[in-house]
Amino acid sequence: MAEDPYRVLGVSKDATDAEIKRAYRKLARQYHPDRNPGDAAAEERFKAIQAAHETIGSAEARREHDQRIRMEDMFGGGGFQGNPFGSGFGGVDLGDIFSQFMGGRGSSGGFKQQQAPPREDGPKPRGADIEAGLDISLEQALDGTEVRFSHRRLKRCDKCDGTSFGRSKRCNPCNGTGVQTKGSTLTVKVPPNAQHGQQLRLRKMGHEHPEGDSGDLLITLRLDAKEGRRWEDGRLVQEVPVPITTLLLGGKVRISTPAGKRVQIEVQE
Ligand SMILES: [Zn+2]
Repeated sequence: MAEDPYRVLGVSKDATDAEIKRAYRKLARQYHPDRNPGDAAAEERFKAIQAAHETIGSAEARREHDQRIRMEDMFGGGGFQGNPFGSGFGGVDLGDIFSQFMGGRGSSGGFKQQQAPPREDGPKPRGADIEAGLDISLEQALDGTEVRFSHRRLKRCDKCDGTSFGRSKRCNPCNGTGVQTKGSTLTVKVPPNAQHGQQLRLRKMGHEHPEGDSGDLLITLRLDAKEGRRWEDGRLVQEVPVPITTLLLGGKVRISTPAGKRVQIEVQE
């Protein structure tokens, strides 16, 4: 299995897309073959860095990667190649996997044994939640903002409207799952004073269930800390050079806040 791209690029899982880009550029420069002629280890590293960048270097690719990892975690890290559903599921796609998380009836296909028997008194089946990250600037986080957000989700099949789910009836577009993967665009309202790592829950904007409720869309906000600042445990850290004389004698240091204000900070003796 490929190396964890976050680890390769030395960024945290909740790094912003911009932070990932910066980390990639820095490492790619450092390990570039032109700079390390004849160094096989550096070349290997460079290849791994490129691969990591392809996996999480764009918002879309990253979203898919993160989603795939979450699914793999649910299967105990076996990945899809291990074929958790027994025979007949060589090339499983996410749509098929998601339908397995939907509970409900499901007596079609080759995975009868894996499914719990239908419960007459059980709660209404529900589509899976979708988790995604959204990058915003510190200014947007302070003032609040509205952002157009596109994602892919399972929606009821155009042809059968979900009715082929769990029945022997064949339906070509959805392959009997009752749902299809479709693009969806919505406006996300970010409240003022939003925090890095804060999660917004958009009800019923997750995967639709062929015969139950929709899951939710969970959006984790990532605030781009920009050059010279970084996030540590939900705190924004900014390093400021202070003259040694100010450190010794005490005094004032002027800094710019993320919102662009100039403020003075008192430094103790
Ligand atoms: Zn259908």
